[in-house]
Amino acid sequence: MRLADKSAIVTGAASGIGLAIATRLGAEGARVIIADLDGGSAQAAAQAVRKAGAPDTAVSVCDVSDEIAVGQCCQLALARFGRLDIVVNNAGLIMFKPIEAFTSADWLKVLSVDLLGAVHFTREAFAHMTHGGSIVNISSVHALETTPHVAPYAAAKAALLSLTRSTAIEGRARGIRANAILPGAIDTPMLWENPNIKSGVESISPEDVGKPEQIAAAAAFLASDDAAFVNGAALNVDGGRLARL
Ligand code: NAP
Repeated sequence: MRLADKSAIVTGAASGIGLAIATRLGAEGARVIIADLDGGSAQAAAQAVRKAGAPDTAVSVCDVSDEIAVGQCCQLALARFGRLDIVVNNAGLIMFKPIEAFTSADWLKVLSVDLLGAVHFTREAFAHMTHGGSIVNISSVHALETTPHVAPYAAAKAALLSLTRSTAIEGRARGIRANAILPGAIDTPMLWENPNIKSGVESISPEDVGKPEQIAAAAAFLASDDAAFVNGAALNVDGGRLARL
């Protein structure tokens, strides 16, 4: 078991990619905190992750944009599991508007979840990962190339790559690694509710649609000691979509 005795927090773990990551980490032996907004779906996810083999799970009702809630989430991991080894910053939201229609409040809303959520967890991880650890930030291919009407999301996901590099540099002396995954189109509610997909502004062929479990496999690798020499990396997991002309 690659992650035996490890303690992990996965944000946005009640559904989609986050649930697949929590399930995979648990199946590899990690004890997992399911951190999400909705306690009911988080409880259901925690049961599913335990069923998949996790030795223990617990729920943290946590808005990642709320520093106090993030601190409480990390305290829960320490109280319940006695240590913190892995944080997967997966919670995310996207808004769709023409660039001139986004208000400052819209920008702050997206940045506070998609970027500052990871900032808050990184600060806590530096305080509590006393045995070293691994931070995995779920960015997006939108960090590199994007479509109309998602400016705050694309900016937040690009900034998350920069945060990953800074974390990797400053975490190295503490034995804390930080890496980012850039998922392509992944079969979750977020993909199919995307108005750009519905309207055809962004077209995706079926072979370019991946599964949450394929992101989870990459996250489990980066979280594990198999990736001991991988630090500051940005890993595209998109089936090769960005590599094409
Ligand atoms: P999803 O199915 O919508 O899941 C996102 C989860 O995060 C939901 O459970 C959501 O809760 C939760 N969440 C939202 N805001 C939160 C907050 N402030 N605090 C805590 N939890 C919060 O989306 P997904 O497709 O799995 O996306 C997961 C991550 O992958 C996101 O960061 C996304 O940007 C990234 N990504 C996805 C794709 C894709 O094609 N699906 C591609 C590239 C990157 P509620 O449901 O209650 O809002």
